[in-house]
Amino acid sequence: MSADGMADDLHDLVEARLRRVDQRYTPGRRAIIDLLVSVGHPVSIGDIAGRLPRLPRSSAYRHLVDLQVVGLVRRVAANDEFARFELAEDLTEHHHHLLCVDCGKVIDVTPTAAFERSVTKAVDQLAETEGFQPHSHRLDVLGLCASCR
Ligand SMILES: [Zn+2]
Ligand SMILES: [Zn+2]
Repeated sequence: MSADGMADDLHDLVEARLRRVDQRYTPGRRAIIDLLVSVGHPVSIGDIAGRLPRLPRSSAYRHLVDLQVVGLVRRVAANDEFARFELAEDLTEHHHHLLCVDCGKVIDVTPTAAFERSVTKAVDQLAETEGFQPHSHRLDVLGLCASCR
């Protein structure tokens, strides 16, 4: 499928998900989703303001919160100062993050199948002691990036 075709499917999915909670896929929300798709990694409010200069920061933030509430956008942060936003994993693919606590840089890392198998096994063991049934996991590693070390 072409990249455009995939984007269309994604927009249909976003629209359907919003409609379920009586929300409309407004141009502002669409601009945010388009940006997250095209950038392909977590962005800050500042990044969004830089790329969508005509969209007020307060609106951008409100759209992000609305999209987050319906599970379309996920907030990624080493701490509150460095909040970043990305498309939810069910719209993209499973990955982990390396978060720099000094400069706020977020690096997306796609784990190998072998890594996922060991993490899943370790998580299953951990959860089992609590009688908990795990469905998925999130792994954000906090530390210092190459330029901050
Ligand atoms: Zn850094
Ligand atoms: Zn994983």
